[in-house]
Amino acid sequence: MTDSTPATGHGAPKLRLGLRNDNDDGWGYAPAPESTDHVELRDRYGLFIDGEFTDAKGGRTFETANPATEEKIADVALASDADVDAAVAAARRAYDEVWSQLAPRERGKYVYRIARVLQERGRELAITESLDGGKPIRESRDVDIPLAAAHFFYYAGWADKLDYAFPGRGARSLGVAGQVIPWNFPLLMAAWKIAPAIAAGNTVVLKPAETTPLTALKLAEIIQDAGVPPGVVNIVTGAGETGAAVVQHEDVDKVAFTGSTEVGKLIRRALAGSGKHYTLELGGKAANLVFEDAAVDQAVEGIVNGIFFNQGHVCCAGSRLLVQESVADEVISKLKDRMETLIVGDPLDKNTDIGAINSRAQLDRIEEYLKIGEEEGAEPFQTSCPVPDRGYWCRPTLFLHAAQSHRVVQEEIFGPVLAVQTFRTVDEGIAMANNTPYGLSGGVWSDKGAKAFRVTSRIRAGVLWANTYNKFDPTAPFGGYKESGIGREGGLAGLHAYLQPEEAA
Ligand code: NAP
Ligand code: MG
Repeated sequence: MTDSTPATGHGAPKLRLGLRNDNDDGWGYAPAPESTDHVELRDRYGLFIDGEFTDAKGGRTFETANPATEEKIADVALASDADVDAAVAAARRAYDEVWSQLAPRERGKYVYRIARVLQERGRELAITESLDGGKPIRESRDVDIPLAAAHFFYYAGWADKLDYAFPGRGARSLGVAGQVIPWNFPLLMAAWKIAPAIAAGNTVVLKPAETTPLTALKLAEIIQDAGVPPGVVNIVTGAGETGAAVVQHEDVDKVAFTGSTEVGKLIRRALAGSGKHYTLELGGKAANLVFEDAAVDQAVEGIVNGIFFNQGHVCCAGSRLLVQESVADEVISKLKDRMETLIVGDPLDKNTDIGAINSRAQLDRIEEYLKIGEEEGAEPFQTSCPVPDRGYWCRPTLFLHAAQSHRVVQEEIFGPVLAVQTFRTVDEGIAMANNTPYGLSGGVWSDKGAKAFRVTSRIRAGVLWANTYNKFDPTAPFGGYKESGIGREGGLAGLHAYLQPEEAA
């Protein structure tokens, strides 16, 4: 540990908010940047409506930037209500005249084709994702893009087997789906939304997040290249107002939203009484429980993966560490040592562990929580790694001795900030894990399988991992309880959400 690391206890220096710290002793990794030569990015992107790229009516645009450099990448069309109308009308036409009439086997072929081209263009997509959103290239290359392709492959396989998936139901699609996604896994979220919807026979209008529209627009190019009939997938870029226009459009039959609990509540209120089907995938504040019989080194890796993967911009992040008191000192000391090895910086460098915070607004929000945590009396620890001069950065941070009442324990920070608490008995650990308005995910670390099963079955969360964390698979349903949302995505449950309910079948 170096002098500039905030010590624990009295007189600890204040947390540094994005200040540079040059303490490289010459033993660091040499840079290993991914080349961007072969990636073509246009200066200007249009909306994707009815199989064509078009400017927004009225020609309004917004900028998307690279959060690691603060430089503008492209101007992107800003869809108005009239553009959303046109997109929904195209989706309706495509649904009525083409997609719902097509043999399911043919539908499946198109979905396969999208998956194949996603794989072929994987490297370009990974670089684009890292440029537009700030995530480390290792993650976009090894997680986001392969998983996005895997979702299309998985759902392609179901397209002509709906009657086997849901026997005796005469599975029927819903119609036009309006889908709104966040900025933390831009292409992957687009895949989660589009693949099951179109495989089940629906058509879609999707709105990507304002800060990360580029991979969804590249996906639109892929959909065009794959020859998918015009109007089956429409992509309208814009900000929250465009999202609201999509979900509230009267000709949308099904709404699928991923984002904040706050906006999720607004949407649910707006949809009340409308008769629209909806699924909401919202925030989380997951507990990662480490028991005294856990393999400590493995648990430390899991804690790091749980909270620092994707800068902590993960709805199912293990953002609360609950560690059994008898092993707390050892776990925390090893965790601090491991955190000191994490490299924060250039998302395109293959050595980077933690990339840029997605936007200035999100960095402000995280820094606000860093202040709140200190004011509330939790003990901060932050690593001493250098960070670049430009761009949005946050060093990996712990709040030790956090109390259940602290806002850094109760509220979703959506950054590389971990609240640490201890417990004594198994029951106490479970009670603490459940003491949250959220219920999306959780992790348990124990050497005893029976104990892991017992504990996970008593935690009220949609996804629980035992001796691992942040594992995703298209065959596994994902979703939450309480303020973490309604409904499931992924697996057969995710397909079910795009079909008529049983009573209507
Ligand atoms: P958000 O505001 O809920 O945004 C999610 C998506 O909804 C974006 O595409 C957004 O557009 C759009 N949107 C905003 N207002 C809308 C409205 N009234 N009606 C329909 N759509 C609307 O979340 P955020 O700003 O990205 O992040 C804020 C917080 O949400 C985060 O700090 C985190 O706590 C949480 N979050 C959770 C997840 C998750 O996966 N569960 C993901 C991201 C964020 P614009 O982005 O263009 O404004
Ligand atoms: Mg951007």
